[in-house]
Amino acid sequence: MALPLPAITPESAAFWTGGAHGVLQIMACTMCDHRIHPPQLMCPQCLSRNVRPVAASGMGTIYSYTINHQAWIPELPVPYALVIVDLDDQPGVRITAMLEADDLGAIAVGAPVVVDFHEREDVHIPYFRLG
Ligand SMILES: [Zn+2]
Repeated sequence: MALPLPAITPESAAFWTGGAHGVLQIMACTMCDHRIHPPQLMCPQCLSRNVRPVAASGMGTIYSYTINHQAWIPELPVPYALVIVDLDDQPGVRITAMLEADDLGAIAVGAPVVVDFHEREDVHIPYFRLG
């Protein structure tokens, strides 16, 4: 059994498929420019439904992280790192994702990271690498 895939919904489709073009897509409000993550079809700041995905640079810095040694499902290779990343060009957006590194000991709060994607079926799952 493979790792489970995320469900594609109207609000999350751009986020999960943008990697097909190498682009991290973040929802943005066209009325007040608020950035919305996790993706929603309504702006939580001004309640407008005029939202659309915008391309993020994929560059960010580690806000927090954890190294996991427990294989919560058998297919999950351990140890692995989960990071919360502040995106450089998307104010207020923090993304939780896996981080892949040869040396997990090199991960640190404040370290620069860059997004990449794993293609699995019809989704492109964002993950980060140390930048
Ligand atoms: Zn708004």
